[in-house]
Amino acid sequence: MLRIQLHPDGSEQLPEALVATLETLAMAFDGVRSDQGVAPLTSLEIVVSDDLAGAVREFDSAVIGDESKENFHTDRVGGVVVGKTMYRDEEHRQPVLVMSRGSIDVSTPINHAHTTFLVAHELAHTLIGQMRHEAGVRTPPAEVPWETCKWLARYAFEEYRADSIADVILGATASVTEEDGGSRPMTVRDAHFGANEFGELAATALRRIVGRIHEYRVSGKELSEMWLDVQTTTGEILIALAHGQAAHDGPRNAADPITSESDFGPMHSCWKTLHELFHSEPIVPAVDEFADQERALVEAAGTAILEFWKGIGLTFRDDSDPFYIEVAPPALCWC
Ligand SMILES: [Zn+2]
Repeated sequence: MLRIQLHPDGSEQLPEALVATLETLAMAFDGVRSDQGVAPLTSLEIVVSDDLAGAVREFDSAVIGDESKENFHTDRVGGVVVGKTMYRDEEHRQPVLVMSRGSIDVSTPINHAHTTFLVAHELAHTLIGQMRHEAGVRTPPAEVPWETCKWLARYAFEEYRADSIADVILGATASVTEEDGGSRPMTVRDAHFGANEFGELAATALRRIVGRIHEYRVSGKELSEMWLDVQTTTGEILIALAHGQAAHDGPRNAADPITSESDFGPMHSCWKTLHELFHSEPIVPAVDEFADQERALVEAAGTAILEFWKGIGLTFRDDSDPFYIEVAPPALCWC
């Protein structure tokens, strides 16, 4: 059922210890599926590639999904994408994980911990994707801001949740020896996943889109390009914050938000709301509660994201096709 392959040259061998780690993680998730009453996978492919974007693009016609992989690239606010989960089938029981070869290595304990976390994160996506399908809930990407915000919320929440699940798996497979000789489960914090870096990169990206809105005020040009940039970057900021916050929180602990009023302005209260919502959900949901929980969450989080856009000067009306964007003067917003 588990197929591990090297892309593009399948004849080369992956180190045995790495294959063993991947097998252990796949089994751990089989266990979670059976505990949660989720159908077992019919196949799991892990593709290890030196060219992640190229491998993902090659799968475009073989996998389902809302977004085309044709133009997939790996640069994001917060770093470079090192793994991607896709599905061959509507039931989400035949996932394909593409992992960047440079980021999975088990030759030292710290690299082993990183690899465990990264692969468990992608496997958590396969579990959540399958549960979402079984629960019959869909939040597709949308055209209008008052729907797009829900899609962005759902995406950020899934990243937070996948990190939290990966953190639990890491703790179940690795431990840390304390100074007094005792030991405890390892967490992502021990593996130095830099909550601060994610926060700083998110703050920089936020400053950039605030500047972009101001450029529009001055020039009056390229409104729809500006909005596309703000919308895409808002999604990336939320995902960077989700990763940073999950690393900061640890799997069972709601720490303070990693944002601040001074660095994040209206994103601070938006993130506070999202973090509270994210953290109030169970790490691994029950299938029969999944749909109601996700609908309520994206509704509330979506409203907070609309408030954030208002805070940086953008409000929307549906009285023209597809919608009307109003850009507030600087005195009325955070800039
Ligand atoms: Zn992810």
